[in-house]
Amino acid sequence: MRNQGSSIKLDLASWLCTSLLFISCFALSASLSAQIAMPDHITGFSPANAVHESKLETQFKFSITQDRIRDYHRYFTSKPHPAGTKNDYEVAQYIAAEWKKQGLEAVVIRQYDVLGTRPVSTMLEMVAPKKYTAMLREQPYDVDPDTKNPEIASAWIGFSSSGEVTAPVVYAHSGNPEDYEVLRQHGIDVKGKIVLVRYSNPYSYRGFKALTAQRMGAAALLIYSDPAEDGYTKGKVFPDGPWGPESHIQRGAITYDFMVPGDPLTPGWASIPGAKRIPESAAVSLPHIIALPLSWHDAQPLLENMDGPVAPEDWQGGLPITYRLSGSVTAHLKVEMDNSTQPYYVVEGRIRGSDFPDEWVLLGNHHDAWEYGGVDPSSGTASMMEMTRAFGAMLKQGIRPRRTLIFGSWDGEEVGLTGSTEWGEQFADELRAKLVAYLNVDSSAGGPNFHGGASGSLAPMLVETTHSIQNPSGGTLHDAWLKSTSTERQEEHDSQPVNDANLVNTRIGSGSDHTVFLNFLGRPVITLEFDGPYGVYHSMYDDFFWMNQFGDPGYKYHAAMSQLWGVTALRLAQADVLPLDFEFYGNTVNQFLSELEKNKRFDPAKLQLTSAHEAAMEWASAAAQTNALLNRATATGKLDTKQLTMINQLLMQGEANFILPEGIPGRPWFKHLLYSSRYTYAHLELPAITEAVESGNWPEAQRQTAILTLAINAETALMKQIAVQLQPKANRLPVD
Ligand SMILES: [Zn+2]
Repeated sequence: MRNQGSSIKLDLASWLCTSLLFISCFALSASLSAQIAMPDHITGFSPANAVHESKLETQFKFSITQDRIRDYHRYFTSKPHPAGTKNDYEVAQYIAAEWKKQGLEAVVIRQYDVLGTRPVSTMLEMVAPKKYTAMLREQPYDVDPDTKNPEIASAWIGFSSSGEVTAPVVYAHSGNPEDYEVLRQHGIDVKGKIVLVRYSNPYSYRGFKALTAQRMGAAALLIYSDPAEDGYTKGKVFPDGPWGPESHIQRGAITYDFMVPGDPLTPGWASIPGAKRIPESAAVSLPHIIALPLSWHDAQPLLENMDGPVAPEDWQGGLPITYRLSGSVTAHLKVEMDNSTQPYYVVEGRIRGSDFPDEWVLLGNHHDAWEYGGVDPSSGTASMMEMTRAFGAMLKQGIRPRRTLIFGSWDGEEVGLTGSTEWGEQFADELRAKLVAYLNVDSSAGGPNFHGGASGSLAPMLVETTHSIQNPSGGTLHDAWLKSTSTERQEEHDSQPVNDANLVNTRIGSGSDHTVFLNFLGRPVITLEFDGPYGVYHSMYDDFFWMNQFGDPGYKYHAAMSQLWGVTALRLAQADVLPLDFEFYGNTVNQFLSELEKNKRFDPAKLQLTSAHEAAMEWASAAAQTNALLNRATATGKLDTKQLTMINQLLMQGEANFILPEGIPGRPWFKHLLYSSRYTYAHLELPAITEAVESGNWPEAQRQTAILTLAINAETALMKQIAVQLQPKANRLPVD
């Protein structure tokens, strides 16, 4: 199934690129990619530097090969490697060794001793009305030898409590608060019982299900994969299709990282030797409930033996049974965990910038996986390794980016965004001063549909960059992105036409490693992913076979990701003026405010957003003027290094103005006024105001609106300060 033709073509180009002189390489590459026009204008670049940048990007893109990505992917999917295991440490050592070979600088493995979570033993049996012992294992298939690996773990949940319970089982649909309300209306109390819920669609983070069950007083939580969500109802199942088979288990953690991510015992500081640790009793992100994930194979006997009230119509799932709320099913559950201090390993490497070494562009992906992590995250790790190889090859030819590139291979993302959080907390002061942007890729390619996310200021440059990337199935990535997004929005009955202004997802929630950089440190972020039909998330079937049969046979989308990720980083690293667009950001914030006014709980008699709207519009218009001045100055190519440094330092403050040191009420670690996530992991804009509105706390909503308005006004002042830098010297105010 691999696309040999295009793979050979890329290899040839890559060989020639490294063998021939730069100009002839460029000419060859240009002839091979007639579809992609070289841009004559790139935002933030002088005309001469734009020409140079285009050549560099072409060279970079053509040195990416699919075969090497496949080889990397085969390595990363060869053994299960969850955080805290020997295998995961070996992966970290491999990445460090490869990066050194590739020529990256200052490669180092950083160890964080964090509160970890590993399974010791798990057991579930139905004891009434009849006996059934749950398999808690995934079925092997001959066609995929990796499914027979004895190292594959049984069903387990990260940060489940240890314990043993025998109790009646209640079905609580998705396990959200409104589901328990339905149970209450039927006279069913879950206190002391085992609650059986399903992974839900739309996605609701399992940690929120755990917190809700804990608050309801349940004794334990079972979360199963219903075929309606990710199994046969959707299409063909593994090994014949991409959806989840009968015995697939969605592992995962239930850490309350929507309160504070990272090591639960070091909230807000790094778990380095000698660090202060709070007692577990004071750790708000630690769950206190026994939890286990189930396949539908193991959940069906529990569901079909219930004889209580029939569950509501929309609670019926994909199994050929009548789903009931409760009745005569009793289960015995025993979970033993090792939730002790364990070492997590973050790998770091860099390429020092030639002109602005203290301006950093950071690229990151996590290396820990529940099992093989075929898509999540090994696809991203493989794309990253090929990208770093291409950067290393350029460096060996003497081509150094103007700004410093830093690469982070995080650990324990799956447990609680742990490695990236600890690293971000350790280097917080330096990152606040030097980090231009963070570019996150978790899963890189599980299908052909592109999704790009960005905090407001980076959205336009991301759209612009996709014009320069070829889509594996033809045309530019930009065109393919417009098309797939239109289709998706039509399916969601969103009638708004898709265009460059709404293509990027600017509603950034949590759930991956960008969180510490955006929400704690106030740095701009980009997130990139290709996806498609995928029903084996966090199961052992998310593996090499799945990727080669269904996800990305031929690794074309992996290669497109290596190119896009690298080219985006290059533009940020090479630009004269950083391509941060605050006119777009101002309009985005204005839109967030309009959306808040449409919130069901919003009461215009209690809260007015007029002055915040006005401030956002004033910011956007000040930024538009500044953009025009910047474009004009950049076009002359006459800004000197000192001026560029001054302007870029000011531009880099643009995100930090939205950081509130004391954090949003109730969640002090989350400090961004514009972005946070709901407990379900769903994105949440203007978190402090929105949560105050939704809880009817109008004085707090007014206070938070005033804080936001001040922050927006600071942005307007910043835009004017940048404009002053661009005026002829005579018009500038004396500095001293
Ligand atoms: Zn992941």
